[in-house]
Amino acid sequence: MHTTTFSVRTRDRDEMIDITRSVQQAIGEAGVAGGAVTVYVPHTTAGVTINENADPDVIHDVLLALDQAVPWRQSFYQHGEGNSAAHVKSSIVGCQTTVPIVDGQMTLGTWQSIFFCEFDGPRTRRVIVTVAGQ
Ligand code: ZN
Repeated sequence: MHTTTFSVRTRDRDEMIDITRSVQQAIGEAGVAGGAVTVYVPHTTAGVTINENADPDVIHDVLLALDQAVPWRQSFYQHGEGNSAAHVKSSIVGCQTTVPIVDGQMTLGTWQSIFFCEFDGPRTRRVIVTVAGQ
């Protein structure tokens, strides 16, 4: 088991950042040919997901739809910090994802990338990558 942590600097309140390259780098450093990689985000107002990397409109639309479903309306929620929408989005998206590794590479589809999801930025965030296998 190999664990790596890296930082992600976000610039907007809501943002999805492609972190696939950093995850693949962690797999390379672990020297694992076969197994699985888990990408974990230790934050309550952020998340991680896999989606399309080819057309940036997809990411735009995912963030738009989440915003429509969970509007940033302070008066609607109870949580005193004022960022309840970000907490709800974090729970919808989830804080981890796992991808199988074959021949030292993630088995992502052609159009798939791993995205760090910011819902209460800008902030500096942490991503923990655990590589299991041999
Ligand atoms: Zn909060």
